[in-house]
Amino acid sequence: MPKIGVLALQGAFIEHIKILEQLGAEAVPVRLPEELEGLDGIVIPGGESTTIGKLMQGWNITPVLKELISNGFPVLGTCAGMILLASQVTGTNGYSLGVMDIGVKRNAFGRQVDSFEVDLPIPVLGEEPFHAVFIRAPRIENIGTDIQVLAKLPDETPVAARCGNIVVASFHPELTSDTRMHTYFLRLVEDREKCKK
Ligand code: GLN
Repeated sequence: MPKIGVLALQGAFIEHIKILEQLGAEAVPVRLPEELEGLDGIVIPGGESTTIGKLMQGWNITPVLKELISNGFPVLGTCAGMILLASQVTGTNGYSLGVMDIGVKRNAFGRQVDSFEVDLPIPVLGEEPFHAVFIRAPRIENIGTDIQVLAKLPDETPVAARCGNIVVASFHPELTSDTRMHTYFLRLVEDREKCKK
């Protein structure tokens, strides 16, 4: 049974913990650097990336997490979590870990009222489309080398991607009852692949 941390500083962390437990993983909230010890992977949830980033710095977790992820520690970043993993961010103030070679734009689909839901084909999850919830979501605008795009909107905008041990999504897989994105992450935890950046 893998032991997965969920960064629990702000945002939708409880939902991630519930899904991971439902899938048989041990899921623990993480706020302090020492709580990263003994984990098999971590989820950085959606929320407000500036707030999460500031709190990460405040609790001194930023350098440890960056080092771990750069060395192959598996991570799933959703929405704000994706922003916090990207190497370039438009509309931010410098809290990202910069471990994945993608450029993202914050709030790229508009404001809260422009949030939307869409049935998205995600081939690595199987034939059935995934009901994806976008809430003030970021857009992936640049894709570096070695990045595998997992899902695109009908207009070709990439909204989920993987690089070795890192998987990101613009949307919130923790807000639906579909557990396939988390199952995919738990498989990745076993893969021991590493993102070359
Ligand atoms: N708009 C938020 C940000 O820029 C992300 C929104 C979300 O995680 N649902 O941090």
